[in-house]
Amino acid sequence: KFVLAERVLQVAPSPTLAVNAKAKALRAAGADILNFSVGEPDLPTPAHVCEAGKQAIDDGYTRYTPVAGIVELREAVCAKLQNDQGWDYAPDQVQVSCGGKHGLYNIFQAILNPGDEVLIPAPYWVSYPPMVQLAGGTPVIVPLKEENNFDFDPATLARYATPKTKAIVLNSPSNPTGAVFSLESLVAVAKMARDHGWLVITDDMYEELYYAEGKVPHILHADPQLKDQVVLSNGVSKSFAMTGWRIGWSVGPIEVIKAMNKIQSQSTSNPAAPSQYAALAALTGPQDFPRLLREAFIPRRAYFVKALESIPGVSCVTPMGAFYVFPNFSAYYGKSFKGQVIDGSVALADYFLGEAKVASVPGAAFGADAFIRFSFATSMERIEKGMERIKQALANLR
Ligand code: PLP
Repeated sequence: KFVLAERVLQVAPSPTLAVNAKAKALRAAGADILNFSVGEPDLPTPAHVCEAGKQAIDDGYTRYTPVAGIVELREAVCAKLQNDQGWDYAPDQVQVSCGGKHGLYNIFQAILNPGDEVLIPAPYWVSYPPMVQLAGGTPVIVPLKEENNFDFDPATLARYATPKTKAIVLNSPSNPTGAVFSLESLVAVAKMARDHGWLVITDDMYEELYYAEGKVPHILHADPQLKDQVVLSNGVSKSFAMTGWRIGWSVGPIEVIKAMNKIQSQSTSNPAAPSQYAALAALTGPQDFPRLLREAFIPRRAYFVKALESIPGVSCVTPMGAFYVFPNFSAYYGKSFKGQVIDGSVALADYFLGEAKVASVPGAAFGADAFIRFSFATSMERIEKGMERIKQALANLR
């Protein structure tokens, strides 16, 4: 019998897969499924960006590029950081990779030794713990509280830090909660990072999808001097509806980026050349698209939160960014329908799919079983219909 690698065996399969597979099967069988599990904007990639990708192919940009990405794109990333934030970075401090996900994977591969611990606030984006494990590190989950709007409690964070802590991941706005860390908390995190020499990885993928005035608070606002200990991760997937183009980037200390380039050179090489030119057009062309996304999402978000809050026993923190709501349904756990007991988020998401024909993602996938994630990157009409069905399905539980 073929023996698989230990590293594969230690990574748990995603609990979302079961629900997704079932959703697909139901849809194939003709069921009218409302899908709230999607993690991508429902608008198409802007036309000028698509044109740039096509033009790149016509112009013959169909060959290898530098491993870290074309210099024009890395310069555009630096210019964006300079213009938006006043942060000074050079193109050799930037690595372009196959989506933000691949960039994060490279970061962990470049910095972790066996036994190194990475602090991951929960609810967390599904991929952080397995990525850390695949790099030989140990994910250390730091719980965030709903009653604290999923912001940091520095005292809690301090309890999870050990001498083995190597890094911390900050994802704000967060997938799945939409929460944004307060500047005050980030000041406390920055102090700990500085005192203990942690690398701070900021996953800024949703920074353009922020529903308050001004900029999303960032650890480099809290402590600009921390720059040598911070790696920024970002990309065009969400802000320019470019999930399929697979372009993201990491920006940080040159030694870390160089190490990541070594890994990228021995694994994927450069990300697809035409995609890099499309991303370049996204960053250097008209910047109104993220605003259009925000404007489309704001009424849906308001409706979703209000509808959820009107259901007895359900609470929902208003997301400050991204395009997900993350309501707490734990008041319904222990109830049942026709003998099917709802013992947690996986069972509830399964029930919503079977009974309400609504696909969602169980909170267990994000390390928070009390919750279910719904994406509002779908039409208002579907959201209204979906919420009616959810309300009814919950009312049917005994
Ligand atoms: N980070 C977060 C928090 C995300 O939600 C996602 C995508 O779902 C990513 C990173 C990865 O994005 P990409 O599609 O660019 O790999």
